[in-house]
Order: sequence, then structure tokens, then C-alpha cells
Amino acid sequence: MTDCIFCKIANGELGTDLIYEDEQVVAFRDLNPQAPIHVLVIPRRHVATLNDLDAADSDLIGRMYLAARSLAVREGIAERGYRTLINCNAEAGQTVFHLHLHLLGGRPMGWPPG
Ligand code: AMP
Repeated sequence: MTDCIFCKIANGELGTDLIYEDEQVVAFRDLNPQAPIHVLVIPRRHVATLNDLDAADSDLIGRMYLAARSLAVREGIAERGYRTLINCNAEAGQTVFHLHLHLLGGRPMGWPPG
């Protein structure tokens, strides 16, 4: 999608530092971090929301979570603990309509989330 900011990041058009890349998934640091570690893991392919995945995408969503797991180890938060989450649509607070998995850590997390 030509006007999608996360497509542009995945394509390298914005010069964003990609801290993880494979054939299907990339990851980069959130511009407005909500924790000391705040990484976004996204598919290279444009997918607007989690609602747009189906059974054929099980490998893709699995890769996204495994990338987050690897990054948690690399960022030194795997043992202390971290949170992964996907906001889906307006009521959950999704603001960028290109699927992204948040990886947050480096501080204690409250529950329930806001
Ligand atoms: P969400 O509210 O789940 O849609 O999250 C979107 C996230 O994308 C927010 O945490 C933003 O800070 C982040 N974000 C938006 N634009 C950029 C960008 N150009 N680079 C990195 N993160 C971004």
C-alpha cells in the first residue's frame, strides 16, 4: 500500500533502523515508546488489522511472535518479563492500520491494561 507508513518502513523508504528482518517480518523501535523497551513487529505484506488474518496466515503470525520472543532475549528482558499485544481497531486504540505486534518491557506492567 503506497500511503501506509509501516509499508514504507518495511520497504526501507524512511530509513528507519530495522532491528530484525526476515522474509516475512521486520521489527523496529516505536517512535513514542511506552516502556524502556518498545519494539513493533510487523509483516512486510500490508495487512490492516488482526481481523484480516485467516488460517493461511498462521505461519506469518507465528513468525511475528517468534521474532518478538527472540528480540526479548536480545534486549535482555526475557527473564524479567515482557508484554506482547496487538491493538485491533478503534476501541482497542489501533492508530496505524498495518498490523503490528507491540513488544514492551523494562519496567513493571500494570493489569488490567488501560
Ligand atoms: P497502535 O496504537 O497499536 O496502532 O500503535 C501504533 C504505534 O506506532 C504507536 O505506538 C506509535 O508510537 C507507533 N508509530 C507510529 N509511527 C511510527 C514511526 N514512523 N516509527 C515508529 N513507530 C511509529
